[in-house]
Amino acid sequence: MSDILPPEQPLWKYVKEKAASVCDLYGYQPLNTPVIEDAGLFTHAVAGGTDIVDKEMYIFKDRGGQELALRPEGTAPVCRAYLEHGLFNLPQPVKLYYIGASFRYERPQAGRYRQHHQFGFEAIGDASPFLDAEIIEMAQRFLLSLGLRDFSIHLNSIGCRTCRPGYVSALKRYYASFEGELCPDCKARLERNPLRLLDCKKRHCQEIAEAAPRTTAFLCPDCLAHFESLQECLNILKTPFLLNHRLVRGLDYYTRTVFEVQPQEETSQGALGGGGRYDDLIEALGAKPTAGVGFAAGIERLISNLREQQVNVPPSPHITVFLASLGAEARKESLKLASVLRGAEIATMESAGNKSLKSQLKQANARGSSYTVILGEEEMKSRTAMLRDMKSGEQRLVPLSQVVATLRQTRALERGQSPGDT
Ligand code: AMP
Repeated sequence: MSDILPPEQPLWKYVKEKAASVCDLYGYQPLNTPVIEDAGLFTHAVAGGTDIVDKEMYIFKDRGGQELALRPEGTAPVCRAYLEHGLFNLPQPVKLYYIGASFRYERPQAGRYRQHHQFGFEAIGDASPFLDAEIIEMAQRFLLSLGLRDFSIHLNSIGCRTCRPGYVSALKRYYASFEGELCPDCKARLERNPLRLLDCKKRHCQEIAEAAPRTTAFLCPDCLAHFESLQECLNILKTPFLLNHRLVRGLDYYTRTVFEVQPQEETSQGALGGGGRYDDLIEALGAKPTAGVGFAAGIERLISNLREQQVNVPPSPHITVFLASLGAEARKESLKLASVLRGAEIATMESAGNKSLKSQLKQANARGSSYTVILGEEEMKSRTAMLRDMKSGEQRLVPLSQVVATLRQTRALERGQSPGDT
């Protein structure tokens, strides 16, 4: 779990702003859910047999003995909120998005943390493949809006509860003859969750998976029609995708469409994001069957790719004015002036304590301030202030009563506005 320090914050702000603006563009509304949920939500929705539920959930009992979990993913909480607040009474589908922390007790490694942050969006209440296409196009538009270029969208359909059992049986039959060659994880998957055999990252297991039966050969007519229609929609949208018969995804609740966004250089950090359709999830939570489709991207992975691809992001706004003061009288004047400047919406920082002018100017430089206003004993006597341009080092004496107006004027000139505009 990491601290996100001030120098990293512009990247986080940038990603969150792009996320919100792509959601505005497609009509997805924000939703915040609590970090803690009833553990049963995830055991029912994500289901046992998956690493996330079996090995990675942070579970604890509260003082009342209720079993709770730190949210390991965002879709199940959104579905819970959809049911709890009667959002099914609204015109469907309901389109929502979230940005928040997820917790998984994973083995920490590059790109895999125990607390990470996801931006996800969900369309609940409609099974049309047009919605799957919208979600996939939206994921692509979001990544492009960030300035990321080198990624590809992998797509598969894993069928529904009518056709998947036939596929899983065929998969088990195929793998039976390879049991001795599988890695220990895959041996366990053969029993617990055979679909996951397909996305093992070990080379020999991948070779075996490559020749395994394909989900798409076992789709029932409805699932096949859905998958074909989705591909047609993506072609209309000119959203490129790669069919990947080994793509199954780590969460059990998916039905039909699954997709993942992979960086071009498939690094050990893995997918930028992934999603799919989850038409059985809401029923698993005890409500009437309700279709849904969504996507989630990991913000830490996005940021690491932004860094690798050297995408420029807007820097954080710097402090405009730094107030340096010498002596008790000047310190009080500085307190007053800081409040007036902030009241005039000029970003201002004050020096604290009794520091030398040199160390105060050093601090002003470190915070990137454009101007330092120096208030010394002499200035106090003459009711003036020394205004220092931090870039040129030029200094001029200004009457104390004129400091705000002078700074406003200078700032307006810097921005190319007429002073009256500020
Ligand atoms: P998932 O809910 O597993 O589909 O994850 C969605 C996205 O979240 C992934 O594609 C990653 O970008 C990101 N992600 C998942 N788990 C982690 C983790 N442990 N650390 C960092 N990012 C993660």
